[in-house]
Amino acid sequence: MKTVVVIGGGITGLSAMYELQKWKNTKGVDVRLILAEASGQLGGKIRTVKQDGFVMEAGADSMVARKMETMSIIKELGLEKEVVYNATGRSFIYSDGNLKPIPDDSVFGIPASIESLAKSTLVSAEGKVAALKDFYTKNETFTKNDSIGSFLEHFLGTELVEKQIASVLSGVYSGKLSDLTIASTLPYLIDYKKEYGSIIKGLEANKQKFKGGERKFLSFQNGLGSLMDAYEEKLSEVEIRKNTKVDKIVKADGRYHLLLNNQDIIEADYVILSIPHTAAESLIDDHELRSEFSNLKNSSLISVYLGFDVPDTVLPADGTGFIAATTDELSCNACTWTSRKWEHTSTSGNLLVRLFYKSSHPSFTSLKEMNKEELLEIALIDIYKSLGINAKPVASEVTNWTDQMPNYLITHPKSVEALESIMAEVSPGIILAGCSYYGVGIPDCIENGAESAEKIIQMF
Ligand code: FAD
Repeated sequence: MKTVVVIGGGITGLSAMYELQKWKNTKGVDVRLILAEASGQLGGKIRTVKQDGFVMEAGADSMVARKMETMSIIKELGLEKEVVYNATGRSFIYSDGNLKPIPDDSVFGIPASIESLAKSTLVSAEGKVAALKDFYTKNETFTKNDSIGSFLEHFLGTELVEKQIASVLSGVYSGKLSDLTIASTLPYLIDYKKEYGSIIKGLEANKQKFKGGERKFLSFQNGLGSLMDAYEEKLSEVEIRKNTKVDKIVKADGRYHLLLNNQDIIEADYVILSIPHTAAESLIDDHELRSEFSNLKNSSLISVYLGFDVPDTVLPADGTGFIAATTDELSCNACTWTSRKWEHTSTSGNLLVRLFYKSSHPSFTSLKEMNKEELLEIALIDIYKSLGINAKPVASEVTNWTDQMPNYLITHPKSVEALESIMAEVSPGIILAGCSYYGVGIPDCIENGAESAEKIIQMF
């Protein structure tokens, strides 16, 4: 009997196994299915933690609803009744010691009407006058390969970009505006400038496109962990081996020998490597493969949840969180008011917040070396400064994702293509899968897991 092993029990590996099991059952295929997961639980970057009536997520907290609703998996797993959607509300920017609302009628902080610009409390009168340049200047030099930062500053002025746009846009696209191209962020702005003569007018004319709808993200009543539990429960035909780390893969007798951390060996005919590239690169000894793996990059993030015995009505009405405008006032980059955004996360209606610390922040170098207690202290200082809350938290969860967030460079598609072709040559029957290569969003991982299973089925 042939054996298929999926290495890595995150969402990608679970989705792959789910499809393989379906194939085994519907086609009556004689195949042994093994899932090897290094840690003591399945889920990888999806893990729900419950404490004192709060529901917290160590990693991902939700999924893009539009994408999930086109898939049948939630229904297949019997989770339809547990689906919850985010509440929409107002986001703030923390600047000069105050929380200031991101103006209505703006797209990533860029005004989408002259009224929106006029009403902004984030920019001075001089800054607003400077932004009017957008209405009377033409674009003669910028192409889509230029930096989005220079483009916006040229037409809207430095102050509006620095105080209102940069923190929002660089949070969404993970990088400094000077390093991001127009093409990789908001390519339509250059078309608007041409068609309407103004970025602001272009956004105003296309407002409908940017209305996100009321329910953009979804999760489950008991947290995203429900998704992983439901998969695990369904995988009754699969040998799930937890605390099983694969250390090496070597070819022997026409099969693959997977050497485990407990000195055991699993023999496999086909393997799906649904583990981060940093884990995959040491499994197969091949010089060319290693050098290609080194072109993939990761960035870092620390997430800190704090739950308080304080009603969340102490925060500004309708608010769902803030982004820090600069890096010199707070250590965090952003803070979500989780209990406001997700009702299911706080049974009592008490305040639960989540702070994000990113590697782009100058203090990250020292933060990443800190232990949980020290990080909690830093988070409490940020909460006191930004929200004026001086209470002791009753619940907390600190997760350090240093060097574990895939960061797709412009060269990413080429690197993945090269890796696929080397793998096919060096290790036929072993395929790469997951967030390091094919998209970081959970729906992308689910889709990639299913596609990876299909590739194995085709080879079988
Ligand atoms: P992983 O989840 O990394 O799973 C890999 C698994 O492989 C792990 O369980 C690991 O223990 C195991 N493993 C590693 N090495 C070995 C080995 N040698 N042998 C055996 N097992 C091994 N996405 C969204 O869609 N929405 C969000 O809101 C969102 N927020 C996020 C917030 C954070 C803080 C993080 C970290 C990620 C977030 N993401 C979000 C991204 C999303 O969670 C991930 O892209 C996705 O969960 C990755 O799944 P995966 O299965 O590809 O990899």
